[in-house]
Amino acid sequence: MTEGPILDRMRLFLVESPIKMARAQGVGSVRGSVKRVLIELSTRCGVTGWGEAAPWEVFTNTPESAFSALDLYLRPVVIGHPARHVRALMAKLDRTVTGCTDAKAGIEMAVLDILGQSQGVSVADLLGGRVRESIPLSFSIADPDFAADLARMHAMVPAGNRLFKVKTGVKPHAEDMAHLEAIRDAFGDTVDLRLDYNQALEPFRAMTVLREVDRFRPTFIEQPVPRRHLDAMAGFAQALDTPILADESCFDATDLLEVVRRQAADAISVKLMKCGGMLKAQAMMAIADTAGLPGYGGTLWEGGIALAAGTQLIAASAGISLGCEFYMPHHVLTEDVLEERIPHENGAVIVPKAPGLGIRVSEHSLKHGAKHLATAG
Ligand SMILES: [Mg+2]
Repeated sequence: MTEGPILDRMRLFLVESPIKMARAQGVGSVRGSVKRVLIELSTRCGVTGWGEAAPWEVFTNTPESAFSALDLYLRPVVIGHPARHVRALMAKLDRTVTGCTDAKAGIEMAVLDILGQSQGVSVADLLGGRVRESIPLSFSIADPDFAADLARMHAMVPAGNRLFKVKTGVKPHAEDMAHLEAIRDAFGDTVDLRLDYNQALEPFRAMTVLREVDRFRPTFIEQPVPRRHLDAMAGFAQALDTPILADESCFDATDLLEVVRRQAADAISVKLMKCGGMLKAQAMMAIADTAGLPGYGGTLWEGGIALAAGTQLIAASAGISLGCEFYMPHHVLTEDVLEERIPHENGAVIVPKAPGLGIRVSEHSLKHGAKHLATAG
């Protein structure tokens, strides 16, 4: 038996993409553009796969640092490695560089894209097969101009969108209350509202704030306090009927074990850029499933390639049942490097069926869909 396709070439592109709307998140607010690293991996027999490292400096890393780690440290491990031995490759990458989870996730998705194409199956099939064909899509209400977001909701709700996540804690509490009231007044219970504080509250008095927003019947409240305050999170999870979801408190399986041990959350946000890839995300979900915590498909600032990987992961992971926020390419990026965007229908992301990640990137789309800041390889 041969070792199968050998990874032979890695091209890297540090790109900058303009975005249509400002995004206020409390920390690391984004305006104008986002930067990402795109990874093209090729085998000796000419199969090409795509990956993407999409860090956010207040979460994992900077794009420039991910580019350097890929180019100088991870490249020598990847080149010459058999594509089939994905777990062995990922273990070697972990031994080579600590952290850089976004860069490693990008390599893994490119390798799985190659394997899927070589075998004529989708990445979801490689990950155990699909348990769903579509994923409910959540849009984040994060525009500093709330009226602009409300106008978007008036267009999106009739188009079938039901899930909306309001970024709370950025503006004064009274303003958050007024916005939540305006949303419930306009849409009643037809929308599934979620709140995300992005760590904005201090444990002191947070319970009062959360009890007040609780009356708007959110499906979950995400990361109300800073990442380290697991005991405060446990207090909210016990005291409130509304589930508490851990995002910044839960990057990887080690964090998740602690969340479970201290009963610090009722659900988790799973992000490829936090945990370092789809295999690790599935390992996390094995723990979360066992502990009874559902997963939510979160994002940093990924474009179409990384979101295709997230889509394949959720298609194959029953426990990630709270939907996804993969709205960037359709609603925020003015351009993307995919030949065709992954379809959204009736408020859901449709899981591509084509082999690999199910996307197409060409020299033309790569050249015209993003501004290239640096290339290597
Ligand atoms: Mg979050």
